[in-house]
Amino acid sequence: MTNSTPTHAPVSSGSFLLGGRSAKGLFTPELFTEEQRMLRQSIRDFLDREIHAHYQLFDSKEGIERGPALLEKMGEMGFLGIGVPEAYGGFEADFRTQLAFGEVAYAAWSFGLTIGVQTSLGIAPLLLYGNKAQKDKYLPGIVSADRKSCYCLTEPTAGSDANSGKTRGVLNEGGTHYILNGQKMWITNSGFADLFFVFAKIADDEKLSCLIVEKDFGGIRLGAEEEKMGIRGSSTRQVFFEDVPVPVENLLGERGKGFKIALNVLNTGRIKMATTVTGTAKRAMGYAARYASERQQFGQTLDQFDAIQAKLSGMAQRIYAMEAIAFRIGGQIDDACAQLIRDGMDPQQAEQKAIASYAMECALAKVHNTEADAWITDESLQVHGGMGYSAETPIETMYRNQRINRIYEGTNEINRMLSIDMLLRKAMKGQLPLLQEATKAHQAIQAGNWLAEGANNERSYLRNARTLALAIMALVGERLLPTLKQEQQLMLALSDVFTELFALESVILRGEQQSKDRPELREALTKLQLVHSRGIIYQSLRTIIPRVAEGSERSQLLDALLQLEGAGMVPVIPTHRTVALAVQEAKGYPFSS
Ligand SMILES: Cc1cc2nc3c(=O)[nH]c(=O)nc-3n(C[C@H](O)[C@H](O)[C@H](O)COP(=O)(O)OP(=O)(O)OC[C@H]3O[C@@H](n4cnc5c(N)ncnc54)[C@H](O)[C@@H]3O)c2cc1C
Repeated sequence: MTNSTPTHAPVSSGSFLLGGRSAKGLFTPELFTEEQRMLRQSIRDFLDREIHAHYQLFDSKEGIERGPALLEKMGEMGFLGIGVPEAYGGFEADFRTQLAFGEVAYAAWSFGLTIGVQTSLGIAPLLLYGNKAQKDKYLPGIVSADRKSCYCLTEPTAGSDANSGKTRGVLNEGGTHYILNGQKMWITNSGFADLFFVFAKIADDEKLSCLIVEKDFGGIRLGAEEEKMGIRGSSTRQVFFEDVPVPVENLLGERGKGFKIALNVLNTGRIKMATTVTGTAKRAMGYAARYASERQQFGQTLDQFDAIQAKLSGMAQRIYAMEAIAFRIGGQIDDACAQLIRDGMDPQQAEQKAIASYAMECALAKVHNTEADAWITDESLQVHGGMGYSAETPIETMYRNQRINRIYEGTNEINRMLSIDMLLRKAMKGQLPLLQEATKAHQAIQAGNWLAEGANNERSYLRNARTLALAIMALVGERLLPTLKQEQQLMLALSDVFTELFALESVILRGEQQSKDRPELREALTKLQLVHSRGIIYQSLRTIIPRVAEGSERSQLLDALLQLEGAGMVPVIPTHRTVALAVQEAKGYPFSS
C-alpha cells in the first residue's frame, strides 16, 4: 500500500480565515482511491461479522472479555498497522487513508474504542517520537496485538490540567532505572494492556516526560473496571504504579518534553475522533431513516411527515459537513508532510510536525463533529419515539455511547479555548497575517463599504461573515488580549464562529469540486449548511459584540450583523424536502464511500 493519493502544495493552518481557497487540492471522500475503498470494505465486512451483528455483547463487560482475542484477530489480518511503516509489519498508509479506514473501524460500538487506543493513542507516542531501538522492540508487537497498549495521562487531580500530574519517576542509585510511583485514572484498555505509555515527571522536574512501561516490569496494580453510562464493553480502570523499575532507555523522546508528546498524540486522536463520529452518525442516521420508512402513524409512514423529513435532512446536512471537514484536514496533513519530506526532513519528524501544524483545525473538527454526532443520535432516538427509549433498540446504546466523545481527548470547552489560543499565538508570531487582515476588515466596516455582493449566496455570505468576524477579532486583540484567559465565554463564542466559517467553506468547496455529481442535492446541502452556520455565527457574534464595543461603535457592529443576517434568504422548507427525498431513497445518508 499506499500514499496513493497525489499531494498538493500545503496551505497554512488558519488560512481559511483569510479566504481565497479553491477546491483544487481539497481532499474529500469522493476522491477515495480504489485501494482506500477496498480497505474500508474489508474492515466493514470484518466488523459486520464480528461486532455489529451482536452489538449488545459490546454494551456489557462481555465486550471487554472479548477485546483481546478480537484485537489479535485484527492484528493477524493486518488491520492494526495501517499507518505503521512496512518495516514494522504495517501498511505505511498516509494520513488520509488512516482516516478513511478509521471512519469505519472505530465506529464499532465500544470495541471501536479498543481498536482506537491500540492503533492511535496506544501507538502514536512510539510511532512519532520513539527511537529506532524502541520501535524495533515494541512496534511489531503492537501491530500484531501480541502487546496491547494504553495511554496514561489523566490522574485523579489532573484531568484537563494534565500537566499537573503527580506521577513521578526517580533515578535509582545505579542510574539504570527510573523508579515510578503514582496513579492514573480512566485508562482505556488498561484491563488487558501489557504496555503503558505513562506521562510522569522525573525527579523534581516541573514538566512531564513520557515513559514506556511494560507490565512485566512489576509493580503495576489495577483498579476495578469502572461502571460507565456507555461504552461498557471497553475496559476503563485506574492504574497504580508502585515502585515500578523502568529502564532509562525507555524514556520516550526527550526528558521534560512529554507534554508536547501528549498533546501531539491528542491532535491525531482528535482528528481521528472527528472521522469516527462521522461513521457512528451515519449508522444512527441509517437507523432513523429505516425506522421512519417502516413505522406507520395516522395511516402513513413517519418519513412522509414534513417534520420527520426535516430531521432526516438535518442529519444529512451535518454528516456532509462532518466528512468535508475531517477529510479536508487529513489531506492538508499529508500535503504538509510530503512538503517537509521534499525539503529534506526525516519522515517521522515530518509527520510529527505536519500533525502539530494543524492542531487548531484538529481541535475544531473534534468539537464540531462530536456535537453534530450528538445531535444526530439524539434526533435519531426521537424519530424512534418510545422505541428509541427501549434498551431493545440499538439507538438507545448509541445514545449512551456517544456522550463520552465531548469529554475525552480534551473536553469540548478546552478544545474550543485551545483553538483560539493557538490561532492568536500564530497571529502574534507573524505566521499568519491575521492581525493585518483583521485591521483591514475593521476599517472596511467603519467605512460602511464592507458587504460584498455576489451571484452565489453562500460564497458572498462566507466572505462577509469572515470580514465581520475578523473586524470583531481586531477589537478583541486591541482591547482584551492581556486578559483573554479570563474571557472564556468570549473565546467559546469566537471559536464557534471560526468553526462554522471552516465548516461552511469546506462544504462550499466540496460542492464546487463535485459540481457534476448530483448537483441539486449538493446545492441543497450547501444551502442548509449556510442556514445552520449563519444561525450559530449570528448568536455568537451577538454575544461578543457588546463585550468588545460600546456606544456608536457597538451600534455600528450590531447593524452590520443584521445586514449580514438579512442578506440572501434560503427557502429552508422546500430545501429540506429535496434532501429528505434523497435520504428516503437511500434509506440513510445519500452518499456512499
Ligand atoms: C471513559 C473514559 C475513558 C478515558 N480514557 C482515557 C485514556 O485512555 N487515557 C487518559 O489519559 N485519559 C482518559 N480519559 C480521561 C479524559 O481524557 C478526561 O476525563 C478529560 O480530559 C477531562 O478531565 P476530567 O474528567 O478530570 O474533567 P475536569 O478537568 O475536572 O473538567 C470538568 C469540567 O470542567 C471544565 N473545565 C476544566 N478546566 C477548565 C478551564 N480551565 N476552564 C473552563 N472549564 C474547564 C471541563 O470542560 C469540564 O466540563 C478517559 C475518560 C473517560 C471518562
